Amino acid sequence: MIIVMNSRATDKEIDLVVERLTTVGLKAHVSRGASRTIIGVIGDKKQITNFNVETLPGVVKSIAVTDDYKLVSREFQEEDTIVDVGGITIGGNQVVVMAGPCAVESREQLLMAADMVKKAGAQFLRGGAYKPRTSPYAFQGLEEEGLKFLAEARDATGLKVVTEVIDVESIPVVSHYADMLQIGSRNMQNYQLLKAVGRNNKPVLLKRGLSATINEWLNAAEYILSEGNPNVILCERGIRTFETYTRNTLDLSAVAAVKNISHLPVIVDPSHATGIWRLVQPMSKAAIAAGADGLIVEVHPDPAQALSDGKQSLTPENFTTLMGEIGSIAAAVGKRL
Ligand code: PEP
Ligand code: MN
Repeated sequence: MIIVMNSRATDKEIDLVVERLTTVGLKAHVSRGASRTIIGVIGDKKQITNFNVETLPGVVKSIAVTDDYKLVSREFQEEDTIVDVGGITIGGNQVVVMAGPCAVESREQLLMAADMVKKAGAQFLRGGAYKPRTSPYAFQGLEEEGLKFLAEARDATGLKVVTEVIDVESIPVVSHYADMLQIGSRNMQNYQLLKAVGRNNKPVLLKRGLSATINEWLNAAEYILSEGNPNVILCERGIRTFETYTRNTLDLSAVAAVKNISHLPVIVDPSHATGIWRLVQPMSKAAIAAGADGLIVEVHPDPAQALSDGKQSLTPENFTTLMGEIGSIAAAVGKRL
């Protein structure tokens, strides 16, 4: 249920509604918009149905929400969420670019990649220190040593760091080094992990599951918001379809759909979506044209030598070209790079 307060509702009236909800064991999320305050109610469905809120002062109406997610919906919050990561904002009128290798492989590789993506104009450095690999025999990541290299690269370049957290146990160590926590595709429905990052104060980049519907993806985000962390950025990274030429199928309609039904920022990962470096540039342009708030792109100093995802990684030169070409697309949709 969503409770719409009168535009002149006082703090006391809002507090009273929250107090009444809490007394019957319901959770209230207050969203103060420019023109009105909305209270999202979560908890036991029966309690919500029995709760007669419209008699309370300052309440205009209550709306039963049929979708199973609430806090992430535009009904709950009309304005776009803008996530601030140490001064870099995601979800406003700037297209944000995150770039770097699939995996942190060595200090030299990472520092070189960081320097190159910074020079090309990226704001974030990506790189996995914990790698969820399909084969248990594939490179699994440098773990904490890799996180230290990421932090060193941040200090050297000023780039913000986004890196994957694969389980609840490693949240403290990853949060210690990273500016933003990435939840990978394979973990999109790991509800314990979602709840745990929801109790953490770092922004979360939530990748869409390999075969997740838009509804399941938004519900995964709802898990994080319902635990108190509003700083979630969605990432479309391609879904499984019958097509085998590409690694996945980039679902650009999901970007436009999610921008309609949710206030959360959405970025696109054209690297994992296609699996083919030559397709990264055209899909990046298409993503921005479709309304994406940013990109996350794999870039490796020497893709042929990469320990993971070399085929989809751009060389620094190709990444620089990409950065030179997306500015005009951003401008065409009223944004800047
Ligand atoms: C990644 O970004 O490194 C990654 C593993 O992506 P995904 O979870 O989308 O497969
Ligand atoms: Mn990868």
